[in-house]
Amino acid sequence: MRGPSRFLKLPIKWKLTLWSSLLLFLVFIGYNSFQYFFVEKWMFNNEQQVVQQTMREFLNYALEKEQSFEGEDLAELRSFLEKINQRNQMIRILDEEGNPIVVVSENFQDIPLPALPPVQSIRTQTQEVRDDLLIMSSPLTIFQFNGTVMILKNMKEFEQLSGALFQVMAIGCLTAVIISGLGGRLLARQLLRPLQSMNETMSNVRQKGFHERVQFHDNQDEIATLMKMFNKMMDQVERSFLQQRQFVEDASHELRTPIAIIEGHLGMLRRWGKNDPAVLEESLQTSIQELARLKGLVQELLALTRAEHVEIEEDVALRDPDRAICHMIKKFAMIQPTFTIEQELAPLAGEILAISEEHLEQVLLILLDNAVKYSGESRRICVRAKVQENVVCMEIIDEGIGIPEQDLPYVLDRLYRVDKARNSGESGHGLGLGLAIAKRLLARYNGSITIQSVEQKGTTVTVFVPLRQ
Ligand code: ATP
Ligand code: MG
Repeated sequence: MRGPSRFLKLPIKWKLTLWSSLLLFLVFIGYNSFQYFFVEKWMFNNEQQVVQQTMREFLNYALEKEQSFEGEDLAELRSFLEKINQRNQMIRILDEEGNPIVVVSENFQDIPLPALPPVQSIRTQTQEVRDDLLIMSSPLTIFQFNGTVMILKNMKEFEQLSGALFQVMAIGCLTAVIISGLGGRLLARQLLRPLQSMNETMSNVRQKGFHERVQFHDNQDEIATLMKMFNKMMDQVERSFLQQRQFVEDASHELRTPIAIIEGHLGMLRRWGKNDPAVLEESLQTSIQELARLKGLVQELLALTRAEHVEIEEDVALRDPDRAICHMIKKFAMIQPTFTIEQELAPLAGEILAISEEHLEQVLLILLDNAVKYSGESRRICVRAKVQENVVCMEIIDEGIGIPEQDLPYVLDRLYRVDKARNSGESGHGLGLGLAIAKRLLARYNGSITIQSVEQKGTTVTVFVPLRQ
């Protein structure tokens, strides 16, 4: 059990190296053994054929010539044998007792002959390998002559050749293992380099901050995609980190102002206000106003945080949205009796919205509140609904002061107000959180919000809410 677990603990570059060399090694071993086995067999067959050929030639000759194995015939026989003999080969003609009559050899190195089989035992053609010798024997019977032909092939050269072949292949195998090991290392290094650089970037991010990015060569492969994703993710993290910081700065600034005002008035009261009813009255009035503002700010900040973490039920459904919205508008109109709110909600009849009634009301109130607050001279507001494929879009249209074009992209941000001076008047103290809350709430329900506006002409806020399928 310890072996495999130790392998699993190895760094990935070693695993890659080991696997690739092991695989290559096995392939090489397999291929080389196969090749060695066949080449050796082929060479041996060749040697055998040479011996058989010699034997056949001699037997044909002997049968044709019908020679006696004596005197002059012997000399002729010898010269014939020398002619057909091959390298590393010895031909022996033996008489009945096993005494050599003719022996010819060519390049047959001196090796002590092993104990050869007694000629009497040779009844048929036989062939055997013994002590580096390939021995082929055949009985020879012509007229009165009873003898034996023996062809001995010295296999030393063959052994040397096949030994050399084996060595070459073994060295080849070893070299292959070394090269594949090195190649595997190189491959692993090459493959892991992007991860290495990602690793470095991450540790840089930890030490220096979010602006570090991975440097990579964009060749459209999987690793490059991963790097791109990582960089994109880092962009997002950095952006949300900066937003968060901005928000904390803005929020603390917003909170500081009313606190400073209250502090100033309380100080003034302690010094002179106690005996001056006019100062007392004014300071108390201002302090209460600022406290109310603080309370509102804290409440809205809480609402914003809640909007981000709203728990949504799986099967949330608002049936008869036209009636529900109509009811909400009626409630709102009661506290704004000077305004006329037109409604075109008929297209919503029978639809089911994927949002809770409570949250839709919260969004509508935020938008109606803005429409009233920034209405200018106009006293008309229109709420209109349309159904598009699988969303409902609701427009809240006013004819108020509008939003300057350069501010439009930011009004959905937290604590953003257009020209703070203009809404500090009687129209009320905006905190710049209403739209941010609406946007977050809608996002939780997969909805969205867009704003079109022309300064001094009016504003149309469009809310998209998904329909329940
Ligand atoms: P509150 O948090 O009380 O709603 P607010 O109304 O200032 O404060 P938002 O509702 O988020 O904050 O609106 C942001 C800004 O966008 C406002 O300060 C206002 O200048 C501008 N704005 C929003 N709605 C309208 C509108 N219907 N017409 C003109 N300006 C608008
Ligand atoms: Mg508002």
